[in-house]
Amino acid sequence: MYLKKNDIIDLTISSATAEGNGVGKTEDGIAIFVPNSAIGDKLKVRILKTKKTYAFGKIEEIVTPSPTRTDIDCPYFAKCGGCVWRHINYDAECEIKQQRVEDAIKRLGGFTNIEIQPIIKSENTLRYRNKAQFPIGTDKDGKPIIGFYAFHTHRIVDCMDCALQPEIFTQIMNITREFLESSENDIYNEQTHKGKLRHLYIRMGEITKEIMVCYVVNGKGLKQEDRLIERLKAEIPNLKSVIINTNREQTNVILGNRNRIAYGTDYITDELCGYKFKISPFSFWQVNRRQAEKLYNKATEYAKLSKDSVLLDLYCGTGTIGLTMANNCKSLIGVEIIEDAIKDAIENAKINGIENARFICADASTAAEQLKNEGLRPDVVILDPPRKGCGEELVQTIKEMSPQRVVYVSCDPATLARDLKHFSSSGYEIQEITPCDMFSRTAHVETVCLLSRNK
Ligand code: SAH
Repeated sequence: MYLKKNDIIDLTISSATAEGNGVGKTEDGIAIFVPNSAIGDKLKVRILKTKKTYAFGKIEEIVTPSPTRTDIDCPYFAKCGGCVWRHINYDAECEIKQQRVEDAIKRLGGFTNIEIQPIIKSENTLRYRNKAQFPIGTDKDGKPIIGFYAFHTHRIVDCMDCALQPEIFTQIMNITREFLESSENDIYNEQTHKGKLRHLYIRMGEITKEIMVCYVVNGKGLKQEDRLIERLKAEIPNLKSVIINTNREQTNVILGNRNRIAYGTDYITDELCGYKFKISPFSFWQVNRRQAEKLYNKATEYAKLSKDSVLLDLYCGTGTIGLTMANNCKSLIGVEIIEDAIKDAIENAKINGIENARFICADASTAAEQLKNEGLRPDVVILDPPRKGCGEELVQTIKEMSPQRVVYVSCDPATLARDLKHFSSSGYEIQEITPCDMFSRTAHVETVCLLSRNK
């Protein structure tokens, strides 16, 4: 490569990576990755690091800004590890996400003649989240800081307000900060594994406005805990639950496995698609409720259930997707690995008067294999796995159960593409793929895909 460190080159940004880097190519076809650039930018770029066929650079000067650029409305942008698209307009962000799904399906999946449906956009790209997990630490003077980890590090960026979180979360952060400054609680240090308070974890029911505050502690509790709870009770309307979670492990996993109710209940409730749901601290719950409704509506359309359909909902969390469809089918079986989520799912069926559902706490692949051996032959299978996807073994079991349709909800286009290849070689054909923007301003994109069994 002729480029070397500190060279300054002219570069036009022509595409973007999933992590939010703009990419431009030199005349010789060398790709240069430039953070915080936008497609269409004409730049002077300083080369920071070179590899055989690509290089990394940083913006030295914006010669002509991309027409998609917008004013950055958050002082933490590019410092904290949350948003990657606050410097371009929302339409441009959605185009990048659409392209990312298309690239995965075409290049990684090898499906060259599938047309991807337009991404389902969000009306609110601000303050849409109903959950936050803030690491707590200290600055160089020992003052408590609460915020987010910087990209790819465990360095905490102190955050006074996050544009993706409801304002009431900021209030809870402030109360916590002031409490820490005026009490003798020591804060956890990841390197030494000493100190108590590790994380602040908050959940809110968007419709009910109910609030859960959870403190993750390397120990049993906090000094002067009552004073903290009294203040939360006095200032946070609809405070339903304060939980002390004990995590004594030296681990990146945020929550430990023991919860103590310090105030109220150990759950909050919210509504989704007209149904009520109970949400426990450990249970998965969609962070963007309004977009989740749109996603579920698309999944319902794809599932095309009838009154005699048997529905299998794998990776069901608190049962949400299946329960919102249960009234349209004969029976529903949900499978989920987290015990508390399954307890919530069973309770959620009751709360909503749904009597044709049962739930199993197990690994999805193991449960599917067992259900198949017991003779279960579902008409429709819904899959909503975590980022690593569902894998070949489960696809094989689903093939043997031979459902007419599979609705695959994915939060990672790359593992979706891989799993779709397995489905395709197991006699299933992709009918339609729709991306959905559940995580505006961040790098993440959700996708829902309909597969049907070949005739
Ligand atoms: N469908 C639900 C949850 C989707 S998130 C909703 O829309 O709310 C993915 C879920 O898969 C999480 O609840 C997670 O706990 C669960 N999970 C992760 N690994 C699993 C496994 N091996 N088997 C079953 N469930 C698993």
